[in-house]
Amino acid sequence: MSQVMLRDSANETPRQAPLRFVRKLAPFVGLFGLACLLPLTDNAYFGLIIGRAAVYWVLVSGLNLVVGFAGQIAIGWGVALLALGAYVTSVLTAGTAFAPVSPYLALAAAGVIGAIASVIIGLPALRLRAFYFAVTTIGFATIVTQIAMAWQSVTGGGIGVVGPTFGGVFSTTWGFYYFCLAAAALCTWLSANIGSSRFGRALLAIRDAEVAAEASGISKPVMLTLIFLFAGAVGGVSGGLFASLQTYITPDAFTIDLSILFFIAILIGGRGSIIGPLFSTVLLTLLPEVAAPLAAWATFLYAALLLAIVLLVPGGFANLFDFKSRKPLETGRIIRPNEEILPGLLSAAKARGPIDIENVVLSFGGVRAIDGLSLAITPGEVHGLIGPNGSGKTTVLNAISGYYRPDSGTVRLHGAALPSGAPQTRAGIGIARTFQNPRIVGEASVLANVMIGGTVLGKSTFIETVLSLGRYRREERELRERAMLALAAVGLERLADVRTDRLQHSELRFLEIARALMLDPAFLLLDEPAAGLAGDEIQLLGALITAISRTGVGVLLIEHHTDLVFDICEQVTVLNLGRTLAKGTPAEIMAHQDVIDAYLGG
Ligand code: ADP
Ligand code: MG
Repeated sequence: MSQVMLRDSANETPRQAPLRFVRKLAPFVGLFGLACLLPLTDNAYFGLIIGRAAVYWVLVSGLNLVVGFAGQIAIGWGVALLALGAYVTSVLTAGTAFAPVSPYLALAAAGVIGAIASVIIGLPALRLRAFYFAVTTIGFATIVTQIAMAWQSVTGGGIGVVGPTFGGVFSTTWGFYYFCLAAAALCTWLSANIGSSRFGRALLAIRDAEVAAEASGISKPVMLTLIFLFAGAVGGVSGGLFASLQTYITPDAFTIDLSILFFIAILIGGRGSIIGPLFSTVLLTLLPEVAAPLAAWATFLYAALLLAIVLLVPGGFANLFDFKSRKPLETGRIIRPNEEILPGLLSAAKARGPIDIENVVLSFGGVRAIDGLSLAITPGEVHGLIGPNGSGKTTVLNAISGYYRPDSGTVRLHGAALPSGAPQTRAGIGIARTFQNPRIVGEASVLANVMIGGTVLGKSTFIETVLSLGRYRREERELRERAMLALAAVGLERLADVRTDRLQHSELRFLEIARALMLDPAFLLLDEPAAGLAGDEIQLLGALITAISRTGVGVLLIEHHTDLVFDICEQVTVLNLGRTLAKGTPAEIMAHQDVIDAYLGG
């Protein structure tokens, strides 16, 4: 056991946690601290500019989750929401449509209407490809400003409408400045809570590894709806603050250039970061002002900055300041799985019965990828599936995990047919998998990638997460501990904090197994886990898979390394051109003349 203790860096986490937290918080405290001191200069002009940056950030903090985290190319979304929020707040306080209401109530209304509009603008993302979605968002931006232009009796048309004024302490320049700063700080906190939660990790998975997200039980429609609601609410509020800051709004304040500024701020800030986009929002707002003589060059400056960042630092500012990821990693790393940990990770109570595949036929166009396959994956056993390339092995795995719909035949789990075409349902019933080509979020840490596997374990709601309430924090801690345990089990715990795209290929294979183990699965489907591994790593992998099955997990092992298959499988099925060539124990398969002729090579 002492070995376990030595290698378990989870032991270090509690001690290091406060330090890491302070280091993460420092740049935020620095930026907001400086902004709070600005009134001391009594420079009202800069107050206006920084106030505007704060208002923009209120919007960008939400959009950042949509663009930077979820990877949705919502270019026109920003200005559509800003305009909508500005007009809703101004019209309600000016009383051009109804009796005037309090500016705070109007701001709240802008948040609600913004949230609803945001979902309407955002949901085409589920059906359209990225490029077409980007175009629809620009269309929405145009529609909002055109309505503002045309609906003269309410919006004042081209003449415009007066923005809201917040009374009392917020009526002075600096009073309102602090109001905007407070809103920006609040939105930073809320969006950071989402970003660092299971919701934020799920968004990253949707962005970079959509099939892995589905296999982990993440529903893209649900995630995008939640995130568009949040982004729309803060976007609407931002519009209201913007209108007050401008004191008077007309449709031409809401150009597509402004929307592109928001979008670029996220790209050059760094996708998946909070501090990066915050920093670049301030920078991009300031840039044309400090370079006032160059005002005509503002667009040029943005473009040049964007090009420079994209070409020189593809990950944006967040990467530029990510010093930790530039420290060289230990070379000659050896993966040492620790099977002793498995019982603590995998509960003994497992599936009540096998997964039965009966007479499944599945074709792609004219190609019969699987032609009448039957096999059973029994709890506590390893079932090997071998065959030449293109024989249909991966297709079998995809049919079990719900990606493909068989033309005929069924896939049953202890007798009940599993729904096809619904891969996100498998995690919830304990069917976990890995991929022939590892599907990971390269820019996230190894630990975060493993935690993605446990997304369905989280029970706290989105609201509890946004507000970082007790249950959410407890769950997050448990998820982290469980992920450290899974990493220790596969022998990667020392790499927990490393960016995943720095790992070697063989390490990614073990990482995918750790992610799958997060579910405490009843069944584990492995697609060529030994591909790209060195000889001794294959041995370790074999021992790990055997140990996993000993806890009661039913394993389907697709592999080309037949030595490994014959070594650890109880049953083996051989496929050739979608048909079952042979079935039996490893000894029977090794002696099977057809298999020797077609696959093993005589
Ligand atoms: P294996 O994993 O055994 O190498 P696959 O299951 O990936 O084989 O592929 C089996 C056959 O089905 C191949 O002929 C392949 O080209 C075809 N195939 C697999 N997936 C698709 C797909 N999504 N669309 C069309 N054809 C496919
Ligand atoms: Mg395959």
